[in-house]
Amino acid sequence: MPLEKHGVMIILSSPSGAGKTTLVKMLSSLDNFEISVSHTTRQPRPNETSNKDYFFIDENEFERLIKNEEFLEYAKVFNNLYGTSRTPVIDKLDKGKNVLFDIDWQGADQIKNKKLDYKLITFFILPPSKDELFERLSNRDMKDKLIAEERMKQFERDVLHWINYDYVVVNDNLDTCFSKIKNLIDAEVSNGSKDYDLEFIRNHVNKLTS
Ligand code: ADP
Ligand code: 5GP
Repeated sequence: MPLEKHGVMIILSSPSGAGKTTLVKMLSSLDNFEISVSHTTRQPRPNETSNKDYFFIDENEFERLIKNEEFLEYAKVFNNLYGTSRTPVIDKLDKGKNVLFDIDWQGADQIKNKKLDYKLITFFILPPSKDELFERLSNRDMKDKLIAEERMKQFERDVLHWINYDYVVVNDNLDTCFSKIKNLIDAEVSNGSKDYDLEFIRNHVNKLTS
């Protein structure tokens, strides 16, 4: 049973470009919320800061951390390795901080299967449309069409994982999406009523994949 004095684990996953990193940053401005900073072997983007957005490390260092069993979860995504180190997460949760994870479905599955003694809430973020997703990916990745096209190809596979999450939220207007997530977290923590329409989500997924 999770203890009330402990923090809550909140996972946000999505197909690349749907906006989960932006949303995780917004949520981290709330009182008592902190981001779990991942390790990755990916190269930093121009706007990213080392040790804040990611711990950027090489493959040898990543393998060493795997061997030392320092990861709570890790996975290969788009040919790069990504992982969450266990100790900082557990320290934060034990101090009562809510921890936000921007991780993919493989990592979410691993954390879910661990059945840790902390409350876990999982969110899957969807784009309003495929056209909007391509637009966001192209803008973020500095008009690099190849990266955007590669990630669009992956979209069809990634979107299928929506079914394994507690809540699926469409990120059309950013502030509306942020409020929906915040309200669902509040309702989960206080056992209040949840404003959530699964049928709407099912229809939206059908539209995105047809
Ligand atoms: P992800 O982490 O899911 O890959 P990001 O958070 O990096 O996605 O968002 C991808 C791009 O889309 C970023 O440039 C971000 O600023 C932009 N973005 C995120 N949410 C919205 C939104 N609701 N409307 C317009 N642009 C958005
Ligand atoms: P990006 O390279 O765009 O920052 O992230 C690519 C994907 O890797 C995203 O789906 C992101 O959520 C995921 N990711 C980032 N950090 C981790 C992590 O520590 N573990 C896992 N499993 N996925 C991660």
